[in-house]
Amino acid sequence: VRKNPVLVSDKAHAEALLEKYDNFLFDCDGVIWLDEKLIPGVLKTIEYLESKGKKFAFVTNNSSKSREAYVAKFLSLGFKGITRDRIFPTCFAAVQALQNVYNIQPNSKVWVLGDSGIEEELREEGYIPVGGTDKRLDQPFHPDHELLVVDPEVAAVIVGSTKEFNYMRIASTLQYLLYKNKSIPFIGANIDRSYPGPNGLILPAGGSVVNYMHYTADREFLNVGKPSKVFLDGILATHNYDRSRTLMVGDTLYTDIKFGNDGELGNGSGSLLVLTGGTKPNDLHQLLSNPHHYEGGESLIPSYVIESLGTLGELLS
Ligand code: PLP
Ligand code: CA
Repeated sequence: VRKNPVLVSDKAHAEALLEKYDNFLFDCDGVIWLDEKLIPGVLKTIEYLESKGKKFAFVTNNSSKSREAYVAKFLSLGFKGITRDRIFPTCFAAVQALQNVYNIQPNSKVWVLGDSGIEEELREEGYIPVGGTDKRLDQPFHPDHELLVVDPEVAAVIVGSTKEFNYMRIASTLQYLLYKNKSIPFIGANIDRSYPGPNGLILPAGGSVVNYMHYTADREFLNVGKPSKVFLDGILATHNYDRSRTLMVGDTLYTDIKFGNDGELGNGSGSLLVLTGGTKPNDLHQLLSNPHHYEGGESLIPSYVIESLGTLGELLS
C-alpha cells in the first residue's frame, strides 16, 4: 500500500530531496512551461540543481515538436546549454520503437498522423514519412483521393497529436491500420487526454487522436510515451542514470506519476507532483480518499507534492 505523499513545504524537506536524488526527469508542459510561457522560478531551480552537480533530462509526451525544435524553445526561454540528447519527446520515442521493438529498418516508409515533429524525427533516422502534414490531406474528403489508396511499402503507422485533424487524415490513416488484417504496427505517441493550454483553456492532447484511431480501427496500439517502462529504460540507459537515485517531476497523475512509480524510481518513492499544471489539490484529495476508483489505483499516488518547481529553488536558496 502506497503512503500518502510528503508535502515539500520547507527547507528541510527540499534538502532531503537533494540528498536522496542525483538525477531529475522533468515533464515539460505544466512543470517547465505552460504552452509558450515559462513557469516562474523554474529557471532558477534548474540552475541551482546544476550548480550542485545534479543531472537532468526533459521528458514530454507532446510529439508535435522534434528534439531540434525543443532545443530552440529552451534557448528562447533562457535555458543555457540544453542539448538534444537531454530532451525526450514522444516523436523521438516512436521512432526508437520502430527499430528497437519492430526491427523496421531505415529507408522504410512510415505513415504518420500527427504534427511535424514525427516527420522530422523519422527523417533524422533515415525513414521516409508519408501522410503527416502532406498538404494534399488538407482537402475536404472525397473517396477517390489519391492518398486513400494504400501504399504497400508502408511498414508502420505512428499517431500523435495534431492540430490538422480532419476527415481525410482519419480516413487515410484508417486504411493503413486495417491493411493486411491489421498487421502493420500501430504506434501511439501518447495517451494524454488533454493539456493545460494558453488563456486557461484545457485543450485536446495527443491521446485523444491516438484513441480516436484505436476506436475506429478496433485495434490496440503500442504506447511509447509516459508511463511506458520501455521509454523510461531507454532514458536511464542513455545517460547511465541510477534508477534508485532518479526522481520524476510531473503534473499529471496517469502519465508522469505512474511513470516514476511503475519504473521503480527512487527505490519506490521516485515521483514528485507539481500543482502548476493539470492536477489540482482537489484531484489529489479525491485520489487519496479512494484510489481504487481510478484506473491505475495506487500507482497514481505521488511520493512527494510541491506547489511548483519554482518553489523547490526558493526553498533551497
Ligand atoms: N501539448 C500537446 C499537443 C500534447 O499532446 C501534450 C501531451 O500529450 C502536451 C502538450 C503535454 O505534454 P507534457 O506535459 O508531457 O510535456
Ligand atoms: Ca505535463
